[in-house]
Amino acid sequence: MILVYINAEHGIGKSAMEVVTYGKKLGDVTAIVAGSVAQDQLAVLGEYGASKVLVDAGVKADDPQQITKMVAKAANDLGAKTIIFSNDLIAKAVAPRLSVRLKAGLIAGAIEVPSAEGVCKVNVFSGKAIAKVKVNTEVRIITLLPNSLQPEKTGSACAVEAFNGEAGDSRVKVLETKIPEGEIPLTEAELVVSAGRGLKGPENWGMVEDLAKTLGAATACSRPVADIGWRPHHEHVGQTGIAIRPNLYIAAGISGAIQHLAGVNGSKVIVVVNTDPEAPFFKAADYGIVGDAFEVLPALNEALKKFKASNN
Ligand SMILES: Cc1cc2nc3c(=O)[nH]c(=O)nc-3n(C[C@H](O)[C@H](O)[C@H](O)COP(=O)(O)OP(=O)(O)OC[C@H]3O[C@@H](n4cnc5c(N)ncnc54)[C@H](O)[C@@H]3O)c2cc1C
Repeated sequence: MILVYINAEHGIGKSAMEVVTYGKKLGDVTAIVAGSVAQDQLAVLGEYGASKVLVDAGVKADDPQQITKMVAKAANDLGAKTIIFSNDLIAKAVAPRLSVRLKAGLIAGAIEVPSAEGVCKVNVFSGKAIAKVKVNTEVRIITLLPNSLQPEKTGSACAVEAFNGEAGDSRVKVLETKIPEGEIPLTEAELVVSAGRGLKGPENWGMVEDLAKTLGAATACSRPVADIGWRPHHEHVGQTGIAIRPNLYIAAGISGAIQHLAGVNGSKVIVVVNTDPEAPFFKAADYGIVGDAFEVLPALNEALKKFKASNN
């Protein structure tokens, strides 16, 4: 039995479909959700392989202590041997707690489905290496890096049942959670347009946003750009920011320091725009454009718009 935690804090997103698809490859999936979420939204998880969805409306979706207790109870009640999370901020707070509570080995940052022998590939050292790991406990917990597999529809809407996780009160009270602005959550985005200090100032981000809009991409930035307040902190990618694995990462005016690469080197295709042909980022790029972002980004945008128009 596979228990999959669904973070529905901001609704049911692509990462929810990914974890259910992932779980389905390992066995019969029961999904579990905290908070009040519309039943029809949850039933959709059945299309990706969930047999049923359990919901505890009394547990707050941003409270790791409550979620830990709820998932532990469900795992014990159902006899779940594998518990899966998407590797987001909630999972980073819940999975280690759960690991202690259930005496379960934790595979953090999985990038593929474990083999029949239980061997699983995980990203380590901020994505600079891949390790093969296997836990030797009866129960295992896996956190899956977003964008590691494509959601697959394999079934139809499933039953949604109320569940009492007996989570009680937490020692720490979450007073406020700020939801990042922007239409596409960065961790779930398949396309990302990112920029750094080479853009000179926040007033020049219009061309980044325009290109992102044409592509249907999310926007990201390097750390100094967020530190100096040109862009919001939730856009900061890298070792100390968010790690992302989009299909396409366009980086303009970013030097490609190792700490930045740590958060983006799982991207399937990297395009770098930089005036300096010696910029380290070019070594990690699939496509490099030695040029001024102020000319290249608008030109790319125009070309894409024409391409889209001619294909409509
Ligand atoms: C412990 C630690 C953790 C860190 N964590 C992170 C992290 O998570 N994420 C992160 O990003 N950084 C992180 N850093 C900082 C990192 O080391 C770099 O300093 C940072 O990534 C540099 O940002 P940048 O490339 O935007 O700026 P810069 O290094 O200033 O590079 C700007 C680039 O823009 C190019 N450029 C200039 N003008 C143009 C133009 N008109 N068109 C095109 N290109 C142009 C330049 O050639 C240059 O390559 C960390 C550092 C430390 C010490």
